[in-house]
Amino acid sequence: MAKYNGAKCRICRREGSKLFLKGDRCYTDKCAFDRRPYAPGQAGRSRKKVSDYAVMLREKQKVRRMYGILEKQFRSYFKKADMQKGVTGENLLALLERRLDNVVYRLGYANSRQQARQMVRHGVFTLNNRQANIPSMQVKVGDEIVVVEKHRKDPVLAEAQEVIARRGCPNWLEVDAPNFKGSVKALPQREDIQFPINEQLIVELYSK
Ligand code: SF4
Repeated sequence: MAKYNGAKCRICRREGSKLFLKGDRCYTDKCAFDRRPYAPGQAGRSRKKVSDYAVMLREKQKVRRMYGILEKQFRSYFKKADMQKGVTGENLLALLERRLDNVVYRLGYANSRQQARQMVRHGVFTLNNRQANIPSMQVKVGDEIVVVEKHRKDPVLAEAQEVIARRGCPNWLEVDAPNFKGSVKALPQREDIQFPINEQLIVELYSK
């Protein structure tokens, strides 16, 4: 599947949910979804009967787009989650949460996951004292993410403390913004993911 380069707010409106793809703007009254909470296009406001399949597909697309992952990779996360012990849907969400780009976003060092991904690719962080420039790297308990010295003056990074105060840091992570550090205290649990997701629909979709 090709990368989507269109307007991000259209994705939120299409999926019927705020996916927080545009950083600070998502928290202001400029949010396009808050202003027009219906699908884009001429038929956006019409009430169509939605099939069960469409409901499952939309849920999967919502989560996939929120984390900014292409279909092939998303499916491989599902396969991995399915092979793990425990509840497949919860395993899937934990694997997505443990991506390095998501962790950087959750720690408040980026305004969006897309920005976090770019920063990781540009070598802004180290993971356990080693350069980490692969956004899909999975973090584990005890890992330490540190901003490389030469990037510490970047205004986005300097604002991390403010961002965390506004957005909050999940329980499984710990941020030390004054020292440009973050660490993984535990593996993410289902209750740590506050965003409304019905992961069972994704499991049903891929199990068909
Ligand atoms: Fe979605 Fe609103 Fe953010 Fe646009 S501003 S990406 S509609 S949450």
